[in-house]
Amino acid sequence: MAELLKGAPVAKAITEELTARCEELKKRGCIPTLSILRIGDNESDIAYERGVTKRCETIGIRVVKTVLPQTVDQNWVLSEINRINADPEIHGCLMFRPLPNHLYERALCEALDVRKDVDCMTDGSLTGVFTGNGDGFAPCTAESCIEILKYYGYPLNGSSAAVIGRSLVVGKPVSMLLLAENATVTVCHSKTRNTTEICRDKDILIVAAGRAKMIDSSYTNPSQIVIDVGINVDSEGNMFGDVDFDSVEPACAAITPVPGGVGAVTSAILCRHLIVAAELANP
Ligand code: NAP
Repeated sequence: MAELLKGAPVAKAITEELTARCEELKKRGCIPTLSILRIGDNESDIAYERGVTKRCETIGIRVVKTVLPQTVDQNWVLSEINRINADPEIHGCLMFRPLPNHLYERALCEALDVRKDVDCMTDGSLTGVFTGNGDGFAPCTAESCIEILKYYGYPLNGSSAAVIGRSLVVGKPVSMLLLAENATVTVCHSKTRNTTEICRDKDILIVAAGRAKMIDSSYTNPSQIVIDVGINVDSEGNMFGDVDFDSVEPACAAITPVPGGVGAVTSAILCRHLIVAAELANP
């Protein structure tokens, strides 16, 4: 039976560490503050907002919410972002994406001060991930994958890893984070010819394809660690990963569940970014 790599203990450990750092900042007169900018009332945005708010409250981070109507125009959103940039009491901003189609998302993302970009929406943050120059913050989901592997004590240095997916939110950044940990990484995508063979002999398999239960036991081996990033919801509201858990779990060494795996760690990583941003702003 494979080890179950649950996200909750990882998030708990991060939360405890951040609570102490948050208290330290408050002693120095700084109240770490996250600005949440939501446009419209998308259900999954509201659910994530609830989770983030709860995590922030546990740690002691102040949350300031701004909700704009679905019909908001570009200038209005831009002025909100400029307000956040100019406010020294706000240390980070979470803006839910994708934005409504009538808005020019790239321009709005780029408008955020990179020092407050705790959710990696600017090119400046991505540059930090790809160059490893230490600037900016990685996408929370990508960093959560690495955090889980480290928490459960799986060595990355010298390991071989396959990543399925090459999006800028998960696949590419997680590949760079693995590389920074001295793993040897192969990235697979929809045009890769022999994905099954590439994955099968790797120490670590990270799946972010957005295809429910796509990965079965033919992709794995008995000593492999499988990180399932996928979130797929069926018509009855049941959640599934990109990995067929029932097929893969008996055939690998360790696996993250869905739900309760990677997704359970992301809000803790977001909070860590916020605390680091507050520390950098208050040296
Ligand atoms: P995405 O932008 O749709 O990217 C999917 C990637 O998978 C693409 O690079 C695509 O290749 C590749 N792919 C699709 N089918 C494939 C196949 N048959 N074989 C190999 N590669 C294939 O998705 P994403 O935003 O990265 O998200 C991926 C998954 O993670 C989704 O299920 C999403 O819901 C989930 N997610 C979870 C969290 C979390 O907190 N747990 C956060 C974000 C996303 P091409 O580039 O060639 O099209």
